[in-house]
Amino acid sequence: MFKGVLIEKDDAGYRASVKTLDEAQLPEGNVTVRVSHSTLNYKDGLAITGKGPVVRTFPMVPGIDLVGVVEDSTHPEYKAGDAVVLNGWGVGEVHWGGLAQKARLNGDWLVPLPAAFTPQQAMAIGTAGYTAMLCVLALERHGVQPGDGEILVTGAAGGVGSVAIAVLAKLGYTVVAATGRTQDADYLKALGAAEVVDRALFSSPGKPLGKERWAGAVDVVGSHVLANVCATTKYRGVVAACGLAAGMDLPATVAPFILRGVTLAGVDSVMCPRADRLLAWQRLASDLDLAKLGQISREVGLAEAIPLADSLLRGEVRGRIVVDVNR
Ligand code: NDP
Repeated sequence: MFKGVLIEKDDAGYRASVKTLDEAQLPEGNVTVRVSHSTLNYKDGLAITGKGPVVRTFPMVPGIDLVGVVEDSTHPEYKAGDAVVLNGWGVGEVHWGGLAQKARLNGDWLVPLPAAFTPQQAMAIGTAGYTAMLCVLALERHGVQPGDGEILVTGAAGGVGSVAIAVLAKLGYTVVAATGRTQDADYLKALGAAEVVDRALFSSPGKPLGKERWAGAVDVVGSHVLANVCATTKYRGVVAACGLAAGMDLPATVAPFILRGVTLAGVDSVMCPRADRLLAWQRLASDLDLAKLGQISREVGLAEAIPLADSLLRGEVRGRIVVDVNR
């Protein structure tokens, strides 16, 4: 038997609670993992509260991230005792996830825990941090370099935003942080932001083109914010878009793309191929200051993750939440 958060949906409604589960209930998979830590991402917030259609089958153990030790494996690359990390692949959505003391998974989804990180640090990074790195890699792939000018990071005080700022600053970029929490300017500057701007500057319907400012951007917000970011990106600049914190819509025109050669680079972490995942984790090991990771994250127990899901969706959680599933 093991403890886990279970999401149920039936005539009594949609609810999440900590339950004692039987190993026989675990889904199919060729690797069983004794989970030590999971995290709370935006998508986990949607799953736990039911505010977004993230969970496709019920009952479901949420948690799109986990770190732990292999207990049992028939996968050729993993044996008992190996430390592993999982991010995405529909885990916590269609396959039981990380917010539990045990998980059974397809070994192809796992990556070895990088030697540079403790289990807690790997989860302080989690999907949010690994996605931030995928965004940085997208900027690089499209030719953005530190000398090109300012890089805007939206949703700056959230999980993806916080890690993106820390990584970009360490790589030598001049980072401008857009946030609804300007009172957290000291936190954002400590992570490496050169300037903090109010997200209200980007939140209303804007013009097709504005004054050129950004050499690149990492956007987690979508909607008018993404449209305004594209409209103010410099000639041949690059915008890496990964999120929808303000909405899934994109009320933009093609003007930035056809008149300024701006690139809108989409970033997905869930189905991201293994080679790109390994590269992202390798780059996090070299390009993320671990001391900053301590400022970005805090740890909670399994039961605390449930009420925090709602706070996270309201934009009240700063940085990253690590969940100790054995607490
Ligand atoms: P967080 O909740 O930690 O951060 C989101 C941040 O967005 C908030 O902290 C807030 O930042 C800002 N925000 C929230 N609501 C609004 C709003 N209505 N208007 C403008 N800004 C808002 O989430 P994550 O960092 O974990 O994820 C961010 C987004 O990225 C989510 O939409 C998530 O689904 C997406 N994502 C996508 C992935 C992919 O594979 N494509 C992977 C990981 C995340 P502030 O207070 O600083 O303004």
